[in-house]
Amino acid sequence: MTAPMKASATATTDPSPLLRQIPSVDELLKRPSLAALEERLGRPLLVKSARRVLDELRRQIAAGEASEVSASELERRIAAATEAASAFSLRPVINATGVILHTNLGRTPLAPAAVEHLTEVAFGYSNLEYDLERGQRGRRDTHTEGLFAELLGAKTTLVVNNNAAAVFLALNTLAGGGEVVVSRGELIEIGGSFRIPEICAKSGAVLREVGTTNRTRIADYAAAINPRTRALLRVHPSNFRIVGFTERPGLEQLVALGREHALVVMEDLGSGCLADLSALGLGDEAPVGRSLAAGVDVVTFSGDKLLGGPQAGILTGRRELLAKIRKNPLFRALRVDKLTIAALEATVRLYLRGDLDAIPALRMVRATKTEIARRADRLAAQLARLPGVSVRLEDGESVAGGGSAPGQFLPTRLIAVTHAHWSAERLAERLRRHSPPVIVRVERECVMIDLRTVFEAQESQVVDAFHAVGS
Ligand SMILES: *Cc1c(COP(=O)(O)O)cnc(C)c1O
Repeated sequence: MTAPMKASATATTDPSPLLRQIPSVDELLKRPSLAALEERLGRPLLVKSARRVLDELRRQIAAGEASEVSASELERRIAAATEAASAFSLRPVINATGVILHTNLGRTPLAPAAVEHLTEVAFGYSNLEYDLERGQRGRRDTHTEGLFAELLGAKTTLVVNNNAAAVFLALNTLAGGGEVVVSRGELIEIGGSFRIPEICAKSGAVLREVGTTNRTRIADYAAAINPRTRALLRVHPSNFRIVGFTERPGLEQLVALGREHALVVMEDLGSGCLADLSALGLGDEAPVGRSLAAGVDVVTFSGDKLLGGPQAGILTGRRELLAKIRKNPLFRALRVDKLTIAALEATVRLYLRGDLDAIPALRMVRATKTEIARRADRLAAQLARLPGVSVRLEDGESVAGGGSAPGQFLPTRLIAVTHAHWSAERLAERLRRHSPPVIVRVERECVMIDLRTVFEAQESQVVDAFHAVGS
């Protein structure tokens, strides 16, 4: 082992004595902590990290920035570099923001039953496209089709990669080469560059805007219909609200107009809730069933918004239209894999059982302020015992997020935390860099914790995180 040697190295002294002291990679990897790491993470990664650390040291020596070569310091750096290189990039975080469908944080957590089923399917082979009755090739749609039929009535469904894909595919199949009529009040943009005018353009359908930003009447739609018109599209204004002097026709009126002119009536619901949440103040989140009952021909919605399942886009509606969509070659390009189908099937089965509390997103939407306040009291007491930490409880609001129920808030109880040594911004940053990361809101110079989106089992981790980052 190389003993550390001090040298008063400056840019002008000869660096070669220091360079000669640098141990070889082989020598370094024999040191006990690195040998243990090799066992756990494999030699190639360790060798790469060691080379990188030694290169950096050579650069430092040449620049006169290093005054010694310490094998134990190199050992520490190589271990840290290897750990960093082997850490997963995508990893769990604790969402203490109170935004339930937080798109940046992976939208909706899956139900344990969904995780269990997808794990089981992922481990081996499955009947993804194999008809076990007949012993011949089957279709992957069949696994969820029957369940949606039971849940939504006698309708067919198709599942694609996400709702953006569903809207695109429906427009491309049903309105491509023709015109689609959309109200100016519904030409929305969703985060991640989903914009209705651009999706229309890419789908090959020509957008016919009608009405105004705040008011569109059925007569506006009627006046836009011409021999090239193929569809009327209703879009859920997911992430904003127009209030005041507003008007838009009811779905039934739109459907009647469509029927009269033999046009397809499509509705992009965005969040597409399968349960009625109006009692919880999320009255705008029209359940999918209501749109189908109104006679909409094709409804599209997301799997990972209020439905509470995996990322997916679901198309449901009239059988012959969905059959056409299914024949579109783009359907194959946008199809979902077995993991999505497994998680979606398990999630939809929970709806059929009426077990809404087993779906985390719905459980979080349905949690009452009293329930959250009880947990907040308990956690605040634990946080208050940490050195430097001050807490206060206050009333606040959680949001559904992810383009659901805009302008509607769920009453909650917030823990407002301040720290003797750190500003709220710095504290939030330190929590974010902690493992596991804790993501919080910063408001009025306080770190705000909304337990609506924190699982009970994560509460002790939140306390640990504050303990660790406070010092
Ligand atoms: C969220 C949303 C989309 C996009 O759905 P993804 O599943 O994110 O692709 C499209 N339309 C509306 C109205 C939405 O709310």
